[in-house]
Amino acid sequence: MLKPPHPAAVAGYLAAMLVNPNNHALDGGPATSAMEEEVVGQLAAMAGLEEPLGHLTSSGTTANLEALFVARESRPGRSVAVSAEGHYTHARMCHLLGVRVHRVPVDDRGRMDVTALEALLATGDVGTVVATTGTTALGAVDPVHRIVPLARRFGARVHVDAAYGGFFVLLADDPLLERDTGRALRAVADCDSVVIDPHKHGLQPYGCGAVLFADPGTARFFRHDSPYTYFTSDRPHLGEISLECSRSGAAAAALWLTLRLLPLTRRGLGGVLAAGRGAALRWAELLGTSGALELYQPPELDIVTYYPRTEPAALSRVDAASQEVMRQGMEDGKNPVFLSVTRVGADAFTGRHPAVVPDLGDARVLRSALMKPESEPYVEVLHDRVERLAEAAR
Ligand SMILES: *Cc1c(COP(=O)(O)O)cnc(C)c1O
Repeated sequence: MLKPPHPAAVAGYLAAMLVNPNNHALDGGPATSAMEEEVVGQLAAMAGLEEPLGHLTSSGTTANLEALFVARESRPGRSVAVSAEGHYTHARMCHLLGVRVHRVPVDDRGRMDVTALEALLATGDVGTVVATTGTTALGAVDPVHRIVPLARRFGARVHVDAAYGGFFVLLADDPLLERDTGRALRAVADCDSVVIDPHKHGLQPYGCGAVLFADPGTARFFRHDSPYTYFTSDRPHLGEISLECSRSGAAAAALWLTLRLLPLTRRGLGGVLAAGRGAALRWAELLGTSGALELYQPPELDIVTYYPRTEPAALSRVDAASQEVMRQGMEDGKNPVFLSVTRVGADAFTGRHPAVVPDLGDARVLRSALMKPESEPYVEVLHDRVERLAEAAR
């Protein structure tokens, strides 16, 4: 999940880095703090949140940690529910916070199963549901539009981990997305908090996540005193509403300058996401007629999962062939092709492909995140190359 930052981000980062502003206190980076407030407002408008409390962070993990911290403070003693496909750091951060976690099963596209969620909510134990719009492995979008009313009925809050998929809301009304995906993305507007990573789909260098809270009163959970800072302004300093202390002002400048060129609209940054989504749809189509490869599941965003067809069709063969295709592609010294794999359970696999014999508990399948707009004109070549690798690996 990486790509080179936009040249505007590089220029903005470098220009600000020359003075190395710190967005902790307003006087540590007056210009870049103003830029941070401006871009946070733009991200909030994109997500559909009015007047939220928010700031940039060093990463999506830190941003989610803040949201989980607020979840704990808002619903003391109650647990967090996250889908089995949710990011691994949620369980880790809940462990750190001393919060219990429930794993909610997923449907046959890797999305949170709302019937299972309802049964869990009915126990009264869950204080916050974490929905994911764009899971890291499959790019699956949890049905936020169905999760929100359900959670409200049981007095639970909803946090959305949109670290990967947050910017896809720019395509919510576009025929490139399935209608339910668009509905789920628009429903982020009704949630209590959301995390979006500009260093994933926002063309930024690493060190740029963001967390937004719908209720500006959330600031009370961050209240603290610092004997050395906060003396220059009556306005809240960014360090007073975040868990981190020092933070790169250059990251704010980079995002600010990028959004001047590519605003958060369908025609602005939306065009970059549309190219990746178009590439994923085209590749899924090619995989549908391939003799060497099989689509694992239809892509919901721009992540395509697939596997080599093997003879016999057994999980152990699929697992070995997937690993071999990744390795051979990477090791072609002159003209490498970089793929990745993800591990899927036998039940999940055979639920999608009943003809494959489950002779292992899980298997690796191939996974490609088509985040670069350059993937769109290249996808036919890519398909051809991966087909040849798969033919050699079967
Ligand atoms: C990448 C990702 C994270 C973690 O974000 P970092 O910026 O890598 O710390 C969390 N959740 C999802 C869904 C992600 O894709």
